[in-house]
Amino acid sequence: MIDLKSMTESELEELLAGLGQPRFRAKQLFGWLHQKQALSFEEMTNLPAALRRQLSESCSLTALTVERKLVSSLDGTVKYLYRLSDGEHVESVLMRYEHGNSLCISSQVGCKMGCAFCASTKAGFVRNLTASEILEQVYMAGRDTGEKISSIVMMGIGEPLDNYENVLRFLELIASPDGLNLSHRHISLSTCGIVDKIYDLAERDLQITLSISLHATDDAARSGMMPVNRRWGIAELLEACRYYTGRTHRRISYEYALIAGVNDGRAQALALASLLKGTLCHVNLIPVNYVKEAGYEKSPKERIYAFQKVLGEKGINATVRRTLGADINAACGQLRREAEGR
Ligand code: SAH
Repeated sequence: MIDLKSMTESELEELLAGLGQPRFRAKQLFGWLHQKQALSFEEMTNLPAALRRQLSESCSLTALTVERKLVSSLDGTVKYLYRLSDGEHVESVLMRYEHGNSLCISSQVGCKMGCAFCASTKAGFVRNLTASEILEQVYMAGRDTGEKISSIVMMGIGEPLDNYENVLRFLELIASPDGLNLSHRHISLSTCGIVDKIYDLAERDLQITLSISLHATDDAARSGMMPVNRRWGIAELLEACRYYTGRTHRRISYEYALIAGVNDGRAQALALASLLKGTLCHVNLIPVNYVKEAGYEKSPKERIYAFQKVLGEKGINATVRRTLGADINAACGQLRREAEGR
């Protein structure tokens, strides 16, 4: 089956030309797929009936179905467990903020990166998501809630820069004026630090926000919890980040999960401040979510605020991430693990 929703408008033109169709049909079809988000080919009433029949025989329309949906009674956070056409599962989380709805989406089934604190990597890597499977997480959440998704964070299951081609394709499709037309300025991409891809991304000069999962301030500690650091150390990673900002003029966001007694001391706060000094950055402090295998515990509130204060005194802007959806296991990877375990 041809995966129509992963195709760009010019690829659709080529496909349709092969079926003897004029060029303008591609724009119509693209609009049905990405703007009106048709659920069947029959709906595409401005396409000739014969073409609709041809397409329905050789192309797939929907990539995902909702297998479970949990709504937090605390803050309205919605968590979706999606089933893919091959029976695999991924998750998305819709978070409600004053400035609008933000959707956290997955880029892979499982993950190869092996970060010690992360639930999504524990059962290993299964496969990359296609561009359409990434996109449909956004479309389905929008349709299901009937609300606008105003921003997207690629912070769900998977390492987006390890599924680079499909993620770039997703970024192109979602920003298309003939589709959802969501500006790259409202999209964050989070990476554990695949340095060669950061350089490549810099050359593309997209307006997305790059988030770097840092979590430690020296190589021994970072390599201990994030195997990727053995390939590219902190200095190399931050060099790539400086290059990225130089090219794109975009502020980089650094994620730092605070783990009690591991990386949450005053010494680490000072070290973090000196690593980031003089760069265009923002630090997101995240109380670590408990994952059984790692045995890491959240830092106590006072230590988190003390850490933030040290950064502030050194001129580094830092915010503490609010915990949302605490009653529905909203942290990444948790629902999929449950589903796979059943
Ligand atoms: N692979 C990408 C995106 C997915 S993880 C990345 O590494 O950035 C999204 C964010 O959640 C990352 O910053 C990741 O380090 C963080 N994270 C993973 N497990 C966590 C946990 N148990 N507690 C807090 N943050 C966690």
